[in-house]
Amino acid sequence: MKKLVLVFLLILFTSGIALAQGPVPQEPILSIDPFYDLSVYDTGYCPGRPAGWGWNGRLSWPTDSHDVLETRAFRLGHPAIDILAENGSEVRAAATGKVIWAGYNTWGYGNLIILDHGSFRTLYAHLDTITVSCGRTVTRGAHIGTTGRSGQSSFNHLHFEVMKRNLYRYDPCRWLQCNLVPEVYPANKVRWNSSLH
Ligand SMILES: [Zn+2]
Repeated sequence: MKKLVLVFLLILFTSGIALAQGPVPQEPILSIDPFYDLSVYDTGYCPGRPAGWGWNGRLSWPTDSHDVLETRAFRLGHPAIDILAENGSEVRAAATGKVIWAGYNTWGYGNLIILDHGSFRTLYAHLDTITVSCGRTVTRGAHIGTTGRSGQSSFNHLHFEVMKRNLYRYDPCRWLQCNLVPEVYPANKVRWNSSLH
């Protein structure tokens, strides 16, 4: 009987926490669907894109850098964050999941990795190198590639997206402590074309 009461109290407590946190607000739907209109040049497409798992409501930083460009933060037209990182910096899985894209993407993402974590997905774009392949399971923190500026990118950075299966994007800074930095890009002072990601 005591045990039952304890279990009951535990359920009450945890549901209370869930209510206090509330549902994650949805952000505007994005305009780019990376799975739409594939060409033979989209070599990263994983046929049959396997369902993943591993979402536990937490995300780890995919890079050592926590610097997010203020002008390239999450907004309508850019449903992602651009994390400043030197070319060749290590990129790591933000959560455990399955690889559903590993290779080139013609929509502007360049060398792209998408991981499926069950209810959520994470996307890593403009990579220099990719060290995972379709269907592979990667654990949180695993090395999956290196940063670069492939695709439509005018400077070295990681374009990082968090999305639901229905492709609704969420601001990654909801989960990560982002360090917003001003537009001036210190490494090469290149001013990028705003149409580039
Ligand atoms: Zn971007």
